[in-house]
Amino acid sequence: MPHLINLEAEEQLDVEHKVLDKGFVRLVDYMGGDQRIVDAARVSYQAGTKKASSDRDLIRYLLRHKHTTPFEKVRFEFHIKIPIFVMRQWIRHRMSSTNEESARYSVMKDEFYIPEQFRGQAANNKQGSSDLLFDRIERPYDGYVSETVSVTDYLTDLCANAYEQYQDLLGQGVTREMARMVLPVNLYTEFYWTVDLWNLMSFLKLRLDSHAQLEIQECAKPVEMLARAVCPDAMEAWTDYINDAKSFSRMEVGIIRSIVARQRVARLGDNEPATSYEGIRSDVEFLAKCSGINTRDSKGEYTREFKECLDKLGIVYGLQQQEPLPLGNRK
Ligand SMILES: Cc1cc2nc3c(=O)[nH]c(=O)nc-3n(C[C@H](O)[C@H](O)[C@H](O)COP(=O)(O)OP(=O)(O)OC[C@H]3O[C@@H](n4cnc5c(N)ncnc54)[C@H](O)[C@@H]3O)c2cc1C
Repeated sequence: MPHLINLEAEEQLDVEHKVLDKGFVRLVDYMGGDQRIVDAARVSYQAGTKKASSDRDLIRYLLRHKHTTPFEKVRFEFHIKIPIFVMRQWIRHRMSSTNEESARYSVMKDEFYIPEQFRGQAANNKQGSSDLLFDRIERPYDGYVSETVSVTDYLTDLCANAYEQYQDLLGQGVTREMARMVLPVNLYTEFYWTVDLWNLMSFLKLRLDSHAQLEIQECAKPVEMLARAVCPDAMEAWTDYINDAKSFSRMEVGIIRSIVARQRVARLGDNEPATSYEGIRSDVEFLAKCSGINTRDSKGEYTREFKECLDKLGIVYGLQQQEPLPLGNRK
């Protein structure tokens, strides 16, 4: 079987996508794509040539049902340059492989992340930022008074001083592995990052989220774009079933089912038999279609995805089914 070549991904190879003020994300290489996921999945059933469903539908089914190993068959190699404090968050994703520039081996470059503004501390989230932005900041001046300077000047001076100290220590013969202690964590670092698609999806779900630090969100954006270039169908499924999806607790499911049951009871007044779920099913089918769910197959039967949707909502669609329980305060 030949290497999978995706023309859109090929065009992205080696392109540096700028992040923050001096960083980048570059796709060095990739292995596999949507077709590899499909081929790996079909091997499970020893039906490599038999197409029971379209490739796109199969990918969507696999992700919906958390059959995730076929997604591990697609691999990415990135070259990334980001500040050390962002890298510290990045490297927490253990299911990947990293090789980073060595500050023991090389003299670090004079490259620091210098934003134009500081964000204020959020009052209600100890890990987060508020909407308050500082363009200028106070710093001590002459030991007694303070002066107000731009955030850019404040950081530039601070980093220049630190870098001067670093060079001074190196000049005096201090080893690189110790001299680096004086450098701040907004220093840029570079690394190669190898990750499979399933773990990339998990990384993106966490790091594109609005609760993640803004800097890592910015750096994760080109990673998402490049993943879409390599496997568009899988990433579309990720948006639908993972990134933009919500999971519900047992109690929340009870609430949703109760709302649905009330809607159904309301319809019974319109002479609908108590044993029939037809009215509420057609309402839900209309809404499902509006949301982009394919509700019927070519024979006019409910699709598997729509049946799963009805199941979750507690709506009977087949004779073999019992009326679902519990429905909250129903007596
Ligand atoms: C908003 C946010 C805030 C955070 N705050 C903090 C913080 O304050 N302090 C802090 O230390 N970290 C913090 N983290 C990091 C977080 O706890 C995770 O370490 C990080 O997101 C990596 O996630 P992961 O373990 O799922 O990924 P990976 O390490 O890539 O693991 C992927 C999956 O593999 C499995 N796995 C990996 N290793 C093991 C293992 N040893 N045992 C069992 N299963 C394993 C798990 O299923 C895991 O989900 C934060 C992350 C986010 C997104």
